[in-house]
Amino acid sequence: MKEIFQAIVTANKEIAPGAFLLSFSRNFSFTAGQVIGITLSKSEEPRLYSIASGVNQDEVWILYTVKSEGLLTPQLARVKAGDDIFVTKPFGRFICEEERAVWIATGTGIAPFASMFYSGQFHNKTLIQGNRTKDGLYFYEDFKKQLPENYIPCCSREPADGCFAGRVTQYLETIGTPDPNIPYYLCGSAEMVVDVRDLLIEKGVPFNNIMAEIFF
Ligand SMILES: Cc1cc2nc3c(=O)[nH]c(=O)nc-3n(C[C@H](O)[C@H](O)[C@H](O)COP(=O)(O)OP(=O)(O)OC[C@H]3O[C@@H](n4cnc5c(N)ncnc54)[C@H](O)[C@@H]3O)c2cc1C
Repeated sequence: MKEIFQAIVTANKEIAPGAFLLSFSRNFSFTAGQVIGITLSKSEEPRLYSIASGVNQDEVWILYTVKSEGLLTPQLARVKAGDDIFVTKPFGRFICEEERAVWIATGTGIAPFASMFYSGQFHNKTLIQGNRTKDGLYFYEDFKKQLPENYIPCCSREPADGCFAGRVTQYLETIGTPDPNIPYYLCGSAEMVVDVRDLLIEKGVPFNNIMAEIFF
């Protein structure tokens, strides 16, 4: 098991049905895009979570959804400000260093891009964010404000104001040929990542320009 450290929760807020933003004070540095392990008991193997906050924020944010049959998340949802959790050091290589890039995320897969965004790394980036409903387009207002031309929110289950009606793959079908010379960063479920990767390759993006983080 990885080395774990105690952290004191400062907030654990339900920001959409079944989706929580957990915060605790930051006492380590990290690179936007990295993950940490979280557990409520030193004897349980930590689950992995992408950090959603920016690298200079005083608090670390973790965005998670509750899996009703899951071991950790139903208990994590009951944690309150002042409670202890255990976290690992940050690690991972899902890091976007390029000047220009396209970020594509669904659900909580937005977390590493939120971290890059709140770290100020959003210039020359296009963000395509998908979810079934608009309330799961986490951080929508902030993205809309800072990326007015380059933010494409997609809602697949119901039409929503200001959103493309359909999945991120359906949006990508509409755009013609994507620039094959820039990197595409994908984050979300295995199904989404595989579907988007296959579509980009079909449209001429080289495999080496596709970076993916799968939340399993
Ligand atoms: C790199 C990475 C980053 C991640 N980042 C995030 C993030 O930022 N936010 C986020 O919400 N999640 C993230 N995840 C997913 C996260 O690590 C957990 O898997 C998730 O929160 C579920 O944890 P849990 O303990 O509640 O559920 P688990 O106990 O792991 O169960 C998950 C699901 O599997 C089912 N299940 C469990 N055991 C079995 C079994 N034996 N047979 C069949 N089904 C079973 C459960 O019913 C449940 O629906 C990430 C994963 C990875 C790999």
